[in-house]
Amino acid sequence: MPLTYTVFDLDETLYPTSAGLMQDVARRITRWLEHHLGMDPEEASRLREVYIHRYGTTLGGLLAERAREVDVEDYLAFVHDVPVEAYLRPDPALRAMLTAIPLRRVVFTNSTAEHAARVLNALGIADLFERVVDIRALNFIHKPRREAYERLLTLLDTPGPACILIDDRAVNLQPAKQLGMTTVLVNGQPQDGVDFVVSSVLEVGPLVHALLKPFSTDERG
Ligand SMILES: [Mg+2]
Repeated sequence: MPLTYTVFDLDETLYPTSAGLMQDVARRITRWLEHHLGMDPEEASRLREVYIHRYGTTLGGLLAERAREVDVEDYLAFVHDVPVEAYLRPDPALRAMLTAIPLRRVVFTNSTAEHAARVLNALGIADLFERVVDIRALNFIHKPRREAYERLLTLLDTPGPACILIDDRAVNLQPAKQLGMTTVLVNGQPQDGVDFVVSSVLEVGPLVHALLKPFSTDERG
């Protein structure tokens, strides 16, 4: 099956953890839990950790266990209200790498389309993605739930084996692997469900070219 799509996670995949952006989002999540659930900071951070461990994201835990107490849109607006442009700068090397990938490029994120647009604009790469599949497009069913990946494939109208998924969390790659996608972990250890590990997203370009090579050789006969 020929490869058609590169599907990129957004946060801490297209830019490094060291940028500090997600640490700020994490602080806003803890603050939201404090204000809305009447918790002290320690309780709020503990609940965040429990939810991430149990459901993959804090919002996933809130929707599973406290749906009646949560205004999802209020939560998403509050936690993403961070100065994205203060953390990220245009990245010409990233832009060059993405431009050279001869496949369709999409973003697949548990965050919102608004946050994704800010991040992609700050990195100077917004025009290189034909589509952002965000948490609303996923009907609030987030990675790593299998239904999120099935929804992605439906929205893209493509089978799993035509996709390469790039994410910084191994747990987010495992369902993709089960659906036949090629999986690339940015910054991590080789493990089940992970086909390739790269230490920087900049290595994804050369990897994609290497994966495509057998096809072009065959075509030339
Ligand atoms: Mg990520």
